[in-house]
Amino acid sequence: MMQQYWRVKADHPDTLIFFRMGDFYELFYQDAETAAPVLEIALTTRGKSADKPIPMAGVPVHAMQSYLLKLVQSGFKVAICEQMEPPGQSKGPVKREVVRTVTPGTLTEDTLLSAKAHNYLAALFPGDGKKKPPAIASLDLSTGLFEVMALADWDQAAAELSRLQPAELLVPEGWPPPPQMDVWAKRITRRADLLFTPKHGAATLLEHFHAGSLDGYGIGDSPSCQGAAGAMISYCQETQREALGHIVALTRLHPGEGMLLDDACRRNLEINASLSDGKRDVSLLGVMDQCRTAMGSRLLAVWLNRPLQDVQAIRVRQAAVTWFLERVDAREALRAALRQMHDLERLLSRVALKRAAPRDLSGLRAALHLLPEIHRQLGAGLEGFPSLLDVLSSHLTGHEELRALLTKTLAEEPPAQLKDGGVIRAGFDPDLDETRQMAHSGRDYLAQLETREREATGISSLKIKFHRTFGYTIEVTNAQLDKVPAERYIQKQTMANAVRYVTMELKETEERLLNAQERLLALEAELFAQLAEQTAQHAAALQKTAAAVAAIDVLACFADSADRFDYCRPLVDDELIIDIRSGRHPVVERFAEQTFVPNDILLNGDDQRIALITGPNMAGKSTLMRQVALIALMAHVGAFVPATEARIGLVDRIFTRVGASDDLAGGRSTFMVEMTETAHILNHATPRSLVILDEIGRGTSTYDGLSIAWAVVEHLHGKSRARALFATHYHELTQLERLKPGIVNHTVQVKEWRDEILFLHTIARGAADRSYGIHVARLAGLPKSVTERAKQVLEDLESADLRAPVEPGHKSAAEPEYQLTLFAEPPPSPALTELNALNPDDLSPKQALETLYRLKELL
Ligand code: ADP
Repeated sequence: MMQQYWRVKADHPDTLIFFRMGDFYELFYQDAETAAPVLEIALTTRGKSADKPIPMAGVPVHAMQSYLLKLVQSGFKVAICEQMEPPGQSKGPVKREVVRTVTPGTLTEDTLLSAKAHNYLAALFPGDGKKKPPAIASLDLSTGLFEVMALADWDQAAAELSRLQPAELLVPEGWPPPPQMDVWAKRITRRADLLFTPKHGAATLLEHFHAGSLDGYGIGDSPSCQGAAGAMISYCQETQREALGHIVALTRLHPGEGMLLDDACRRNLEINASLSDGKRDVSLLGVMDQCRTAMGSRLLAVWLNRPLQDVQAIRVRQAAVTWFLERVDAREALRAALRQMHDLERLLSRVALKRAAPRDLSGLRAALHLLPEIHRQLGAGLEGFPSLLDVLSSHLTGHEELRALLTKTLAEEPPAQLKDGGVIRAGFDPDLDETRQMAHSGRDYLAQLETREREATGISSLKIKFHRTFGYTIEVTNAQLDKVPAERYIQKQTMANAVRYVTMELKETEERLLNAQERLLALEAELFAQLAEQTAQHAAALQKTAAAVAAIDVLACFADSADRFDYCRPLVDDELIIDIRSGRHPVVERFAEQTFVPNDILLNGDDQRIALITGPNMAGKSTLMRQVALIALMAHVGAFVPATEARIGLVDRIFTRVGASDDLAGGRSTFMVEMTETAHILNHATPRSLVILDEIGRGTSTYDGLSIAWAVVEHLHGKSRARALFATHYHELTQLERLKPGIVNHTVQVKEWRDEILFLHTIARGAADRSYGIHVARLAGLPKSVTERAKQVLEDLESADLRAPVEPGHKSAAEPEYQLTLFAEPPPSPALTELNALNPDDLSPKQALETLYRLKELL
């Protein structure tokens, strides 16, 4: 058996082997030592090899999922090695085979996955630096969503990986990853280079899709995409060992079709999770997700992370949202029906991978029964029925045949597991019905036998019980042992207070019963497998239905939010204008304690291109800037937005540089991180981009920082020509308004009242006249002595007539001197200067005495 083990291990070197032995999966040697502490299970030994005990650890088969989850979450891969025949059938050890390899990117079980998030496996074709660009394929094996994108450069590749957040990333073995890939290092699985070649990839894909050409999948002309997508399929074939019947489509995405969002932007705008604690609830996704199905929640995340770039497509979604918004009752009824809907996508993938449980199919049946209701509530055929809903509703019909089959075959309420029995409906299969009858009558027969034995022996406590080792036994308590008929009863087991026996008749009955039961289960399993197989043949159509249900759910959810939270339909067009009236921050307004103060903002890409925002800390500058970005983002998804009116000219990319975050692990200082991110923005922003910069240049000395901030604004204004919001503490920058048409000063207002400040959170044109930093410091609880002293220093500083630089690089004359007086060493005292200069040997005693008196006066 250990030889068998080593053969399996040799085929799966970087993988833990779950080696099936009866009711346990056992781990051996290094695997056992690695896994035992992670799983918090005992490390034991079994037998010996070369005189040393073999380390071993095991988990019970029935509890395997929770252990698997722990291992996979800790980044391990696990090969499940099953017994392929009942023990004792062949000579030597039982035949065993790896039936599946479980890896972080290939999970399919609901218990191992989060319902509302996709779990992506990604495969990267690195490109050859010449003709072939890099490409990334992505697949959620649990839903069958399979996409591929060829990328122009590493900047786009990084953005795509940031969108996918793959649980596992396949790369060629011989490829040295560039530094940009460092963040993914822990999730990388290396595969043979050959598997990534376009030639191998194309062959794998053609075979998988049973297709003659890859043109239909949009990748006939892209060797890079073929390499990436092919490497993906071959990995899944190897790990799943099944036909992957639910991967029926491959969609080619193009970088320009979606708004590009990089990692910094996703984090800073808190699109998928909050910055502080990574929670989904307090994020844009969290507040927008009022979906009724897990499929809808996942699709919303997809939409939000790749907003549209096509005005027409956005308007088509908006029209559907408007339709739902206006038909309140139908929407409510629709959403109530959606709430009952099972997760069709995940359920289908389990069916295709032959992992379906009885309740997956009954869930599918229930879903198919719900479809007509969903269809009805859409209002197809009514005047003004939007085109998008028309298309989606057409995918909801046409499953009558499958629905009838499931209804006819499957029991009304099937058990959770096949082995519990009762999966197939009575009346479906005569053979099954007969076997079932036999199994049941066997049980009745046992009951009768018990009564008969009790009467024949006069033992009132006699019971027939099932025991795992001995099968059915007759149990007699010690008090009545004297009545046992020794000639018929064969003793099997003695216990503290009872003895167990068998009789010939009992053994015969048992055999009949067990045979019938075994046959019953086998028959049910066979019929169930047939049903699953037939269902799998509908996978392609069912997936379309599932996708339609998800989209309907998201669109109805947008309408629901618009209704409940007072959102408006933004006008999205090809212009460069961003005009938001009474806009609110979608997340802050939901969680803030005080009422949220709405604000207007106008950027027009022309004479109001860059909004320079000054105002004290805590005034609401960051909130305002993010709010503009989030509203723009929501508009590109087709959703309504938190404002009374909004006009959003298409945005190709949102950039953010917000706050300071140290990258200590990466060995970069706060300032270095800030400058790297700023460089990235300046190198990539276009006139269509929306840039958000919060306090650039803080990590260095005042004049350094000011000069950098100044130059950055100039670059954005003159070179990038992007629409930008720029919050700054450098009041000097407000002079740019005079110098550069297109830059407009804004300030977030505060009110002074008896030496206190009141944050109004309203934005107005103009520049803040003061920073109020000391006020805020006092609010924060800095000791009074410190704030008083700070006030004094501030007054001194302000009286020093500090003039702002007129042009960058030309410092005002007052600065260097001023800095000296404030920060440099004080000039030496004249007494010291004279003392240094004199030579005591040249002095007469009288001169010495006079000098002493003079020096004393100089002090
Ligand atoms: P700043 O960037 O100017 O330091 P923030 O944007 O961080 O200020 O906002 C400071 C606080 O004010 C936050 O706690 C936020 O919840 C609150 N706030 C910001 N804008 C508004 C608003 N428009 N209405 C109500 N509260 C707001």
